Amino acid sequence: MILFAKVTTFLVTRAKAVKVVSTCPFLRITQMAKQTKPKRKLAHPRLPMQGQLNLQDEGTHFDLRPIFEKLNERYFGGRLRSYKVMWGRRRKHRPREYFVFGTIQEEDRVIRINPLLDQAFVPLWFLQYVLYHEMLHSVVPDESVRGGRRRVHTEEFNRREREFRNYRRARRWEEENLSRFLR
Ligand SMILES: [Zn+2]
Repeated sequence: MILFAKVTTFLVTRAKAVKVVSTCPFLRITQMAKQTKPKRKLAHPRLPMQGQLNLQDEGTHFDLRPIFEKLNERYFGGRLRSYKVMWGRRRKHRPREYFVFGTIQEEDRVIRINPLLDQAFVPLWFLQYVLYHEMLHSVVPDESVRGGRRRVHTEEFNRREREFRNYRRARRWEEENLSRFLR
């Protein structure tokens, strides 16, 4: 499983805040797609939920706001302020090869969660994990890597991601259930 990320982040340097633009779709790619798709394409995936305006945070099964607030208290000491959290736009077709669980846009502080996660078979702790992942981007700075690219899933990010209470359980569930979100 590979995670591609693009996130809009503020990197604070000594004197002033420098804005670094990148984005994180919390994206999982199927094993098959990894083998057949050329790498370049995977590096610049379409962002299905980017730029869509949907102010709904109440889904049919889950209400994102209270989940966000609880995570904010527990893991971030309430530090995440004025973030909007919402379900992304529903797509006509399910993706075939990869699934974007969520995205975060730092510029306008919007976290979007894929509405396909608003289903009865999705455990609450898995949805919490996806939200936690996106929220973590707002506190862990990205790093530059060779070729001027930015890496958002840094070692520090991965380390802190594992601090999520149900991390292992969530990763296992994800592996076993990813195909249910794809065509
Ligand atoms: Zn991410």
